[in-house]
Amino acid sequence: MDDNEIKRLRKQSVLKTIDEATLRLLVSDSVFEHRYTICKSCEKYDDQYGRCKMCGCFVKYKTKLKKSYCPLHKWDKVND
Ligand code: SF4
Repeated sequence: MDDNEIKRLRKQSVLKTIDEATLRLLVSDSVFEHRYTICKSCEKYDDQYGRCKMCGCFVKYKTKLKKSYCPLHKWDKVND
């Protein structure tokens, strides 16, 4: 095994670890769509900036995180 092969395998291993860590943090596409649809129709959604007026978060990102929750209890965090 030469140096390039070792570098390639290390890079592959690092990327796999990042992928796995990301999957642990993010919700599925269907959960994201469900949450995002609720937010976009919420009276506290700021359509101009894409932010929640209650918590100030950018809704497009907030709704992707498993541990996020709506301050008005319209949707909840996801437990593994
Ligand atoms: S997080 Fe809750 S309060 Fe904020 S915009 Fe979404 S549904 Fe509305």
